[in-house]
Amino acid sequence: MTQTAANRPVRTRIAPSPTGFPHVGTAYIALFNLAFAKANGGEFILRIEDTDQSRSTEQSEKMILDALRWVGLDWAEGPDNGGPHAPYRQSERSDIYKKYAQELLDKGHAFRCFCTPEELDEMRKEQIARGENPHYDGRYANFPKEESDKLAAEGKPFVIRMKVPTEGVCKVQDMLRGEVEIPWEQVDMQVLLKTDGLPTYHLANVVDDHLMEITHVIRGEEWLNSAPKHQLLYEYFGWEMPVLCHMPLLRNPDKSKLSKRKNPTSITYYRDAGVLPEALLNYLGRMGYSMPDDKEIFTLDEMIESFDITRVSLGGPIFDIEKLNWLNGEWLRALTPEQLKNKILDWANDSDKLTAIAAAIQPRIHLLSDAVNWGGFYFQNLPNITAESFEHKSLTAEQIMEILQIATWKLEALPEWTEENIFAILKGLSGAMDIKLRDMMAPFFITIAGSTSSTPVMNSMYIIGADMTLTRLRYAVEVLGGLGKKKLKKLEKTAADMPDFLAAE
Ligand code: GLU
Repeated sequence: MTQTAANRPVRTRIAPSPTGFPHVGTAYIALFNLAFAKANGGEFILRIEDTDQSRSTEQSEKMILDALRWVGLDWAEGPDNGGPHAPYRQSERSDIYKKYAQELLDKGHAFRCFCTPEELDEMRKEQIARGENPHYDGRYANFPKEESDKLAAEGKPFVIRMKVPTEGVCKVQDMLRGEVEIPWEQVDMQVLLKTDGLPTYHLANVVDDHLMEITHVIRGEEWLNSAPKHQLLYEYFGWEMPVLCHMPLLRNPDKSKLSKRKNPTSITYYRDAGVLPEALLNYLGRMGYSMPDDKEIFTLDEMIESFDITRVSLGGPIFDIEKLNWLNGEWLRALTPEQLKNKILDWANDSDKLTAIAAAIQPRIHLLSDAVNWGGFYFQNLPNITAESFEHKSLTAEQIMEILQIATWKLEALPEWTEENIFAILKGLSGAMDIKLRDMMAPFFITIAGSTSSTPVMNSMYIIGADMTLTRLRYAVEVLGGLGKKKLKKLEKTAADMPDFLAAE
């Protein structure tokens, strides 16, 4: 059996991929990593896993770091504060992965695969036609070395894949689940290094966990199926394997996997709505975990003091905003009025945001006190609206929901939240749906500001940010009665068939 690293000084990590907004699930996993490390006198570090270059952005990395810092989960080493294992951003470590991929190749644990994308596609189609699950069929796994070297020397593009047994079962130890058995036939001959010489998640993750001396890998259960590949890589390299612990996934109240379609999932949204970081941590701490004395309200330090990871229960913890709000209320009421005043001031005192709001309301106000009427909605959570608020001279409620829904999807997919991009989406949408921009904008004013007489709405969307904008858009569709599953499916297709609004002039 693979030796584990359980006897070394404890080191855990959070390894976010900067491909979107800062998800509450990231804070949840980070919290358990930090609590485990601290409870065992160890260190908690942060590593950025940006091997997917096409989806990773600097804006996302910054938001994730800011959000984790805001919530109070500090890391001892990371891309911002450095450390003995720097760099902590995988895009800056490509040479390291190349070297290790070569080592596996030399030892015969990995092989070059020269399949073209068309060949792989063909393979997939044939397997599906035969009723098999699509998988790599191993056609280059035993390709003679001289021929492989020759093709590589000729410059034929290749990826490096790891060898994986095709029969038997892989046994993986998990701290919460004990021994887990996964048949090898379910494990693909994973690509480790892509044609461009960059690693995939699996290689980079294993190499870095080893080099960064990580002893315990605490991560979401969606990674459990990757554990056999990782375990095999540790064996191939002859390294001690970290102890694995796969946490249950957060769920929506209807038990489905927590998704932004049903709940706001961005930490930034909860910050802007006025959840205290202490309360958010407390709430996340209760996800699947209970304090030994069943206490409901506790601080991070209290959680660390009595932390015992085996108390995590595997039933999918429900992330319920109502409960979070209740808990936040408890935290707020435990403050003195003076402390509460300071919390409110801190929360509102975002200099860039306030300056942007000042610029937006400046042409409209006569008295400073007018700022309350013109500027109030920027600070709200959800505006005070009903279906009647949306009554429109030319658009039906159904049309409005369609517009808002497609806008939600298009805005959600924006690579960067800028006023230009928001404009491009809404302008493009008005063209694609053949509705005058002026007519189309009215529902957006109601959705965002609660009224059609307000500051320019695209600028407002920019100021309140992506997460709050999307939350209000989803809320507006709900207020209008919501779209059924069938309708949504159809609409999704309509949206997918629209041209790329960002590319259009
Ligand atoms: N980069 C992975 C993620 O975004 C990390 C998974 C792991 O912890 O191994 O979830």
